[in-house]
Amino acid sequence: MFSKILIANRGEIALRILRACRELGIPTVAVHSTADSDAMHVRLADEAVCIGPPASRESYLNVAAILSAATITGADAIHPGYGFLSENADFAETVEAHGLTFIGPTADHIRMMGDKITAKTTMRALGVPLVPGSDGALENLEQARIVADKVGYPVLIKAAAGGGGRGMKVAATADDLEEAWSVARTEARAAFGNDEVYLEKYLDRPRHIELQVMADTHGDVVHFGERDCSLQRRHQKLLEEAGSPALNAQQRDEIGEIATSALKKLGYRNAGTLEFLYQDGQFCFIEMNTRLQVEHPVTEMVCDVDLVREQIRIAAGEPLGYGQKDIHFSGHAIECRINAEDPLTFMPTPGTISVFHPPGGLGVRVDSALYAGYRVPPYYDSMIAKLIVRAPTRLEAIQRMRRALDEFVIEGVKTVIPLHLKILDDPQFRSGDYTIHWLEKFVAAQKAE
Ligand code: ADP
Repeated sequence: MFSKILIANRGEIALRILRACRELGIPTVAVHSTADSDAMHVRLADEAVCIGPPASRESYLNVAAILSAATITGADAIHPGYGFLSENADFAETVEAHGLTFIGPTADHIRMMGDKITAKTTMRALGVPLVPGSDGALENLEQARIVADKVGYPVLIKAAAGGGGRGMKVAATADDLEEAWSVARTEARAAFGNDEVYLEKYLDRPRHIELQVMADTHGDVVHFGERDCSLQRRHQKLLEEAGSPALNAQQRDEIGEIATSALKKLGYRNAGTLEFLYQDGQFCFIEMNTRLQVEHPVTEMVCDVDLVREQIRIAAGEPLGYGQKDIHFSGHAIECRINAEDPLTFMPTPGTISVFHPPGGLGVRVDSALYAGYRVPPYYDSMIAKLIVRAPTRLEAIQRMRRALDEFVIEGVKTVIPLHLKILDDPQFRSGDYTIHWLEKFVAAQKAE
């Protein structure tokens, strides 16, 4: 096992990793920017090293500074969390080249899945079903037209290097294709420095269902079931559930079997998430994330597993020690992302937290690095807390979440809590019958009121 782990992240996820390390008895090193000197992860870690000024590229993305921090503190492994360097294959490679362990997949697998075109080609070859679309990158607009005519409009032009919903444009009809093509490419070039794009049929009423997998270095792969992340605005998740209201146990087993056997053939290791769009009973793979996801707690709650602990054990070479038949699903979990944003416009609202009173009680979990007096810095992601509940049934989980949100007091900044409360009261949401397009319409209706 590792003697010391450096956590190359900030906020709630740095705390989340720190907690797992502490329970395993492993000392931790926090790294932080000058804007985060007072942050909770810095206060709670055994050691802390300042790695640069507020801007992420000079601190949390500064590979040389992070490796120096690991060297001077004698850390022998690095956990990247999510975001920042977590899906940077060069970083994973550099960490290992310095004799440290990167807690995650191999650099080759990160690279493979980071390119969505390669990811799709690989998954198709391994028997995973895809969204109909182009076979690879599109050479030119003419080729895009041919593929679009074949799969039928509407279509989506997507960036090969895409992430965070950027570099993605819909063409409703043939007349819109040229504009979607050029806007997607311009956006992709600006955001990722790579304007390679591909085309997918635009599904009009899918759910976003993703599967949590975990693979050890001895060839064993298991899955921890699905998460439903269909509640999105601007292609960004806001509320997640485990399991999906749309799936039954047999459908879960089927897609789980396809995913785990594909990853076994690939020789994948550590945590990963396969994302699918699910419509008319069909799963269509869209991408794989080679890291821990923001929404991993809902899986932990229904499977009674510590996914970060599993990541650390596997990175240290330990076998999973259990098989698929040992993984049981119990009850229903919901996560609400609490962002410091205006609940209708989603404009970030950084500021100082004057009052912070998190909810408690049976089946309630709060993952947050907030405290009263903390200044939410304007430089980073606006998510300031995750509220997760578990209950025996979906309806009870909704009631519990409502109750917990009512108890949650965060003063000093605006948050999206009022929007979550409205969603939880909505009959359509409560019925479980919603698609990835539902939330945008719901928010538009709220604005019109
Ligand atoms: P990113 O990596 O930018 O998050 P994804 O490929 O994961 O991009 O897609 C993000 C979201 O965009 C999906 O969860 C879904 O809501 C929407 N989306 C992606 N592909 C399609 C598609 N073919 N049809 C309809 N919606 C899509």
